[in-house]
Amino acid sequence: MKTIDFDLVGVGIGPFNLSIAALAAPKSELSTQFLERKPEFTWHPGLLLNHAKMQTSFLKDLVTAVDPTSPYSFLNYLVQKQKFYPFTARGDFMISRLEFSDYMAWVAKQLPNTQFDAGVSDVRFEGDHFVIQSNGQTLTSKHLVVGTGTQPVVPDCAKGKLTDNCFHAHEMMQRKPDLRGKRVVIIGGGQTGADIFQHIFAGDFGKPRQLDWVSRRANLEGLDESCFSDQFFMPDYVNQFYHLDKAQQAREVSRQKLTSDGITDDCLSTLYQALYHDKYVLQNPKWWSIQPHQELVGLETADELNQLTLKHGITNNIKALQADVVILCTGFKRVLAPCLENIADQLQLDELGRPLLNEDYAAFWKQPTDSKLFVVNSGTHNHGIIEPQLSLAAWRAATILNSVSDKLLYNNTNSSNIMDWDLHSSSSPQIVQNSNPRDIVS
Ligand SMILES: Cc1cc2nc3c(=O)[nH]c(=O)nc-3n(C[C@H](O)[C@H](O)[C@H](O)COP(=O)(O)OP(=O)(O)OC[C@H]3O[C@@H](n4cnc5c(N)ncnc54)[C@H](O)[C@@H]3O)c2cc1C
Repeated sequence: MKTIDFDLVGVGIGPFNLSIAALAAPKSELSTQFLERKPEFTWHPGLLLNHAKMQTSFLKDLVTAVDPTSPYSFLNYLVQKQKFYPFTARGDFMISRLEFSDYMAWVAKQLPNTQFDAGVSDVRFEGDHFVIQSNGQTLTSKHLVVGTGTQPVVPDCAKGKLTDNCFHAHEMMQRKPDLRGKRVVIIGGGQTGADIFQHIFAGDFGKPRQLDWVSRRANLEGLDESCFSDQFFMPDYVNQFYHLDKAQQAREVSRQKLTSDGITDDCLSTLYQALYHDKYVLQNPKWWSIQPHQELVGLETADELNQLTLKHGITNNIKALQADVVILCTGFKRVLAPCLENIADQLQLDELGRPLLNEDYAAFWKQPTDSKLFVVNSGTHNHGIIEPQLSLAAWRAATILNSVSDKLLYNNTNSSNIMDWDLHSSSSPQIVQNSNPRDIVS
């Protein structure tokens, strides 16, 4: 009988699969291999702006939540890099994205189960194992975990019109545009828009003549970072959320938007101080604007000049804006990895073509099989608002590895939470533990 090379192969090495690789590496009973098309580990390199900060604590690293003794923890990185004591003097849990990226690259370099320059072009399923084509090599694996990340979103009116002077923000640091003396428009009022505005405002790309920041949001909306909102980013909540029906899940996720899709308080207040200083202390002639409620509805490029059409979300007024450079901070979307094209029709997908996942992140097959195809960062429709976020990366990695090995390789069952969520479905009666044990709620 033909032997299968690996228990688990990972496609893509972003933070989420890197966490799985780091937790799998010390477990000799598991054979794993993770494949990445880039030549080395990089984390959204086009957005690694000098002063951009993380939205999550450094303690939520690749491993610590399930194995604080792992050599791949952020704390060990600090010790090995001989910066532990200087780091502690910072007194801040939020570190720069540059430092977290350096930490992850440090982990990736040490792991024996990662391979770079190894893009996966095709995956087939042959009854009890996967066959993976990667840069001229063929690998076989019992299970597969897909962690291929997201794709940049370009507004409809800009599709097919991207140029050197109109591009998505995810290319910012590769392009390093010279913005001296130019009219620049930033589209999109989330964290990326804020980071880009802040760096351009500070002159990191040369001082523009005019800097306009346009957002269809009602204001610059702050990330909801309260300790109670943080309870959504804990295993206990995710475990209960998973069992809600799809309509309830969608309602919850939309209510929770600003717990993951807003601008950090730290960034907003730094920005506000800078704007106040420029306008009211230095009294500079007006060279920047922040324009909420404005949606980009039209874009034309001619002779390097971008003509934008904006529509106001309340008044419906239409106005024109001209720019030498347009930077689209319009977010990212999830798509089913193209390398899964040949097995997509064997999976249960929802009406939007997204994979439906089991509690352990394994996709539901149309025909039952022992091989599991895990998907990380697949969207919020299975496990909720946490899914695209780093907070539970290590916990999810442990869940997947436990499922692959069919035993508790890592203890991920400690899921206490300060709230009593009571998200149990009304169709399945639950015993109320803290009252009369005979009481049944339905
Ligand atoms: C600018 C930015 C900042 C963020 N900051 C935070 C934060 O502070 N806190 C937080 O919780 N979340 C943050 N996020 C959200 C989330 O944590 C990140 O997007 C994270 O990178 C997601 O990890 P991932 O592993 O799913 O995907 P990615 O990081 O996108 O990695 C996917 C990898 O797969 C590779 N790949 C794709 N296709 C193939 C293929 N066919 N073969 C081989 N390799 C392939 C890609 O090259 C890539 O390296 C941020 C997101 C962005 C965009």
